[in-house]
Amino acid sequence: MKEKLANFHNIWNDKLFKEYKKTTKEKIVASFLASFSSNKPELRSGLPVFAIMQTLPDHEFILVEDQTLIRESPCAICSTAFGYPKELDGEEKEILNLCIGSGGLIGNDLSDYYYYLHSFNNNKSDEIMGVEDEDIRIFSEILDILLNVEENDTLKKEVLRSMKKIKGFKTGQEQSQVLLETLGYCSILETTKYKGLLKEYTNLAIAKRKTHSSDWRYPVDFWIGKDGINKEAFKFWFGDYKQLENYWK
Ligand SMILES: [Zn+2]
Repeated sequence: MKEKLANFHNIWNDKLFKEYKKTTKEKIVASFLASFSSNKPELRSGLPVFAIMQTLPDHEFILVEDQTLIRESPCAICSTAFGYPKELDGEEKEILNLCIGSGGLIGNDLSDYYYYLHSFNNNKSDEIMGVEDEDIRIFSEILDILLNVEENDTLKKEVLRSMKKIKGFKTGQEQSQVLLETLGYCSILETTKYKGLLKEYTNLAIAKRKTHSSDWRYPVDFWIGKDGINKEAFKFWFGDYKQLENYWK
């Protein structure tokens, strides 16, 4: 059994890293920005996975030590559960497209990551990547909202409300939440204690939550106004866009 699991896991791992090598930060970031004025949240879905790939180890299966966790999350490094590489059937494709359509990451298996990047790489992303002034304006408004959060406030209420009011930006609660979670994986929204994935890897499937019932993902779950924006991480991701330099200076 263990051997079978290891094989499935390692095939997914290899497929994922091959897919990752086919894309570039430039394409992923341009697509992310182009999502705003075009109102195509699906264009934002490559970035969360690409951000996680910055530190996800290219690894072979290691059985988790805690025996009580074996059923749900057999791999000690990524928690990838049972499964085997296969083509998705109609219903599974629909679910995948719904998740991608939200503009952020839902699910933390190696296969989820693979399908997100595979979809990104196969969506003729080259054709839809023109970043417009409107994209920069909308993204800047989101960042301004974040910079104006009261010291001890989270981003779970007011920020979501304010994001809805941005002119020309259509977003619902889930879309806004996964967008903010993406900025967390990018290490742009992180805390001193709970870091994003730019420089250190965290197994998101079992990462800490602020409260037992929280449905916000690590690390933005812990973010409060005084944590602000990590300028170095911001520059790493968006440094090609001079119009955004105020956010890294
Ligand atoms: Zn693993």
